[in-house]
This record gives sequence, C-alpha cells and structure tokens, in this order.
Amino acid sequence: MKNINNSVRHKLYQRVSLGHFPTPLEFLPNISSKVGPKVYVKRDDCTGLAIGGNKVRKLEYLIADAVKGGADTIITAGASQSNHARQTAAAAAKSGLKCILVLEERHSPYGQDYYRNGNVVLGSILGAEIRYVPAETDIRKVMLSVAEEVTLRGGRPYIVPVGGSNVIGTLGYVNFVVELVEQLSAQGTHIDHIVLPSGSAGTHAGVLAARCLLGLDFKVTGISVRNPKSVQEQNVRTLATNVLSFLGAQESLESTAVVVHADYVGEGYGIPTKASDDALLLLAQSEGVLLDPVYTGKAMAGMLDLIRTGAIQSSENVLFLHTGGSPALFGYREHFLK
Ligand SMILES: *Cc1c(COP(=O)(O)O)cnc(C)c1O
Repeated sequence: MKNINNSVRHKLYQRVSLGHFPTPLEFLPNISSKVGPKVYVKRDDCTGLAIGGNKVRKLEYLIADAVKGGADTIITAGASQSNHARQTAAAAAKSGLKCILVLEERHSPYGQDYYRNGNVVLGSILGAEIRYVPAETDIRKVMLSVAEEVTLRGGRPYIVPVGGSNVIGTLGYVNFVVELVEQLSAQGTHIDHIVLPSGSAGTHAGVLAARCLLGLDFKVTGISVRNPKSVQEQNVRTLATNVLSFLGAQESLESTAVVVHADYVGEGYGIPTKASDDALLLLAQSEGVLLDPVYTGKAMAGMLDLIRTGAIQSSENVLFLHTGGSPALFGYREHFLK
C-alpha cells in the first residue's frame, strides 16, 4: 500500500465522531462452505448510531462541514424507508442540530407499514420534522424551498444531498478503505474482491477512489439497486474522479476499475426480487445476519450469482460490504409475513 500524504490525511481528519469504528470484519463460515470462495463481511450495518448503516461514515464528514459553516438545521431527503434519512436525523440529534426530512412517498404494494413503520417511525422518534411529498416530486427542489423557509425564519440550513453522496460525504468511504486495510493486515487476511451495493454511488466511488489513491489491487464490483449499468458506472466514475481531485491526488482512476452489474434490480428500486428474498433468507438462516430488501439483499443476490456463474472464482477471497438497512424490514412486514 502506498502512504497517504499529509494533505490527504488532513482532509480525512475533518470529521466529527458519530459511530462505532472500526466495524467488525467477520468470516462467514456457513456461506463459504456452501458457495466455494471464502466469504467475509464488513459489518457497516454495525456503525452504531441509531441502528447504524453506511450513511454514518458519510455523515461524520457532512456534519463536520455543516458545523464549520455555522448551520443549525440539516435538511435531507429520501424514499419513505430511507435509511439515510434516519441516520441523518440521528446525526443531527447527536450534534445538537435540527433536522427536516423530505420523504417521497413512492407507490408501494406493501401497505401502510411501508409509509409509516421502520425508518419513518425511527426518524420521528429521533426528533426530525418530516415533510411527506407525493411520488415523482422533485425532492431537490423541495429541499431548496425548505432551506429558504429556514433562512426566512432566521435559521441556517445545510442541505445533505440524497444518500449523502457528494465529495464531502464520499470521504467516509475513502476512510473506510484505510480502516479495512489496517484490519486485514492485523488479522492476516487477504481479500481479492469487494462486492457492494451501488445506489447514490458514494460508497462505491469512495472505495474506488481509495483503491486508486493507495495503489491497492482488489477488484470492486458494484451491484446497482436502481440505475442501468452505463448510467451507474458513469455516476460512480464522475464522483470518484471528483473525490480524487478534491484530495489533490496525482493518480487517476483506471477506466476498467468501475464495474457495475445491473441485472439484479428486478422491477425497480425498493421492490424485492425472488433472488433478493432468497439471499436475505439464506443469510438470516445460515449466519444470523440480517440483510435488507432494498440494497444488501439485491447485492448479496448479485454476489451469489456471480459466484455461481464463475465470474467470481472459488480461489478468491470475497468481501461483502454490508451497508445496513435492516430497519426497512419493518416497512415490508406484509411481504415477509404473508
Ligand atoms: C444508502 C444505502 C446504500 C447505498 O449506498 P450509496 O452510497 O448510496 O451507493 C446501500 N445500502 C444501504 C442499506 C443504504 O441505506
């Protein structure tokens, strides 16, 4: 691994402490003996803040940025069962800031639980003011008008983009790789391949930017949860490139480094597939690990399929990045408890 220079190190220090780090790195013995490759899991579902998840790493940087600018109100948005919204509400609460969540009520066949259980309940308990808007609303516009409202009443708003995936938030997943590399070396474990869910792209882009910056050679495969392959690869590439330039890196992203599989989305974002259900139940019932129906269930379905088809080989050590999401399970009660 290459050394990190002082200027990059300094930028990676610009964060507040919100979570429990390092998250555990675990071997999955039962899944491994079933599928061939050695499968490890990095437990970013255990980042600690209000049930945790991957947004905590991003929020450590975003909240630091908000506080530095003198903000007193955090505004963000997502779908009804947004884990990001719940983690943002918790981060704001812990930091003594107000929080306003804009939740887009996308059509869901899973009944009232989807709109008013799981993450929605937790966001409210965490003290966020919730604005419900209908499906297909331009939530970026709504966030801007909420910010204007906050300003008019004398407050200082700070907008966290959907998924926390701007350059600042993505630093959380650059730092993730630094943590992972130290952990692997302390445990004497080597990994060849990381599989992760790819949504608003910050997780994927941060890992790739760090891989490039540190000269690491593991492969990274993103499983899209929404966008077609070409769109998602472009989103990831753009964000990773912007992060590298923010960090003043000399290195540039190899064109072949960005790999997205979009074959596991099914009917659409947030709609479980047969394969994601199977993967979710397999992990729960063979390892006691809870995945979620929106992100990690589909990413695990993708990983298992890539192993089955030989795209990931038995000789490889694979790391699954568990990004969290289990609170959303309660929004899908009618799906799982028929
Ligand atoms: C937001 C989220 C993701 C996607 O991460 P991005 O950085 O937005 O690509 C994956 N899993 C869970 C559980 C999430 O909440």
